[in-house]
Amino acid sequence: MSADEFRRNGYKIVDWIANYFERIEDLPVLSQVEPDWLRRNLPASPPETSEDFGEIFNDVDRLILPAVTHWNHPNFHGLFATSTSSVGIFGEMLSAAFDMKAMLWRTSPASTELEDVVLDWLRQMMDLPDHFEGIIYDTASVSTMHAIAAARENANLDIREKGMSGRDDLPLLRIYCSEHVHSSIDKCAITLGLGTRSLHKIECNDRFEMIPERLAEAVEDDLEAGFMPICVIPTVGTTSTSSVDPVDAVADICEKYGLWLHVDAAYAGATAIIPEFREHFRGCERADSIVVNPHKWLFTPFDLSVLYCKDLGTMKQAFSLVPEYLKTNDEQTVKNGMDYGIQLGRRFRALKFWFVIRYFGREGMIERLREHCRLARLFASWVEESANFELMAPVPFALVCFRACPKGVDDLDTLNEWVMNKINTSGKAYLSHTKLNGKFTLRLSVGSIRVEERHLKKVWDLLNEQFSVART
Ligand code: PLP
Repeated sequence: MSADEFRRNGYKIVDWIANYFERIEDLPVLSQVEPDWLRRNLPASPPETSEDFGEIFNDVDRLILPAVTHWNHPNFHGLFATSTSSVGIFGEMLSAAFDMKAMLWRTSPASTELEDVVLDWLRQMMDLPDHFEGIIYDTASVSTMHAIAAARENANLDIREKGMSGRDDLPLLRIYCSEHVHSSIDKCAITLGLGTRSLHKIECNDRFEMIPERLAEAVEDDLEAGFMPICVIPTVGTTSTSSVDPVDAVADICEKYGLWLHVDAAYAGATAIIPEFREHFRGCERADSIVVNPHKWLFTPFDLSVLYCKDLGTMKQAFSLVPEYLKTNDEQTVKNGMDYGIQLGRRFRALKFWFVIRYFGREGMIERLREHCRLARLFASWVEESANFELMAPVPFALVCFRACPKGVDDLDTLNEWVMNKINTSGKAYLSHTKLNGKFTLRLSVGSIRVEERHLKKVWDLLNEQFSVART
């Protein structure tokens, strides 16, 4: 593609994206296509000869757009509502242009050093102590997998060389988390060869928070049974309800038994930048590692997850392996990203985050997060004031768990599921669900950069409307 052609097409794409954001509210939040629709509409084999870019691009409107669920839509309230920002898109464009594989400092000085700088900025904004050093991975699942690998390395079991299979000198290793932990922790245990039986899930109180006394008992019981506790993973902002495990009390137990403390703050970690939210993070300063996802709630396009470690050296010890063709004469003095995980090449993700932090500034980010939390509390107040709905969990951040509970209806699970599906298939808004104490619970997450009070009012009206339809 010539530079002129690149310019022409590039301007068209930027125009298209600008129009997309302008008309996003007219698009259905959830894609309305049936499974297999796109596949059926695409040729089964690749083109033999070159196609005109104009035609390729036209197919975005014709084929791709109908099959897009719009995470950027202000009425996307399912799962955790996350959205990109325009500056974040610019960061992605430039990083694609550089196409850096940040493995060694010398193959990517900009990526390596910018990553250190922006992660230190975020650390300061989150008010974490300066002994924390960060590293960027793609997702929280992968960040936590590396954290558990570091915890295992820290236990000095020689697993790097000997592995875990065929050994009779290795007791069952134990990792502790609450019963509300994200499923990625189970997957980490599977991936690392620990197996799901290594996970000990600790009971929660009626606010869905891990009970530290139960944790201490579990560790004692496991030690007595000859198992080897290595790590505890409290969550600040659990996925189902955004509840907060008592990190400080968990840290006491970790200190007593010499266990690695990894905090999963993938969702709510962003709010540590807001001074009045810091109480939720009490004890995080004592952690060995903490994961926070700027791609969830800091307006950074997917993907960008940050793992902070008290001693990144343990990660290096677990993963560094330098073949001849990657040896350099500066390894003692520079940081080579490939030393801190399973990947060799790493995307230049720090660039988009640098753009985002500079464009919004700390105050701009705080202001938006505060507004999301205010909107969630407002929605929760409507739920509380209504005789037909009830809150199912506290609202510490910007997630509301609730359900319809009209008098005289026996099967509330079916009613709530019906209402949710009606709203979702209408394309007007998207809600998701969880089960709390066995009860079908609706989840409304506020996190889009475009969300305003009128969008929540719209969902509230839709809920009341559908609920009246369901009753008739
Ligand atoms: N941890 C928590 C608390 C989450 O809510 C999620 C996803 O929502 C994850 C981890 C996994 O995130 P990722 O998609 O970045 O792997």
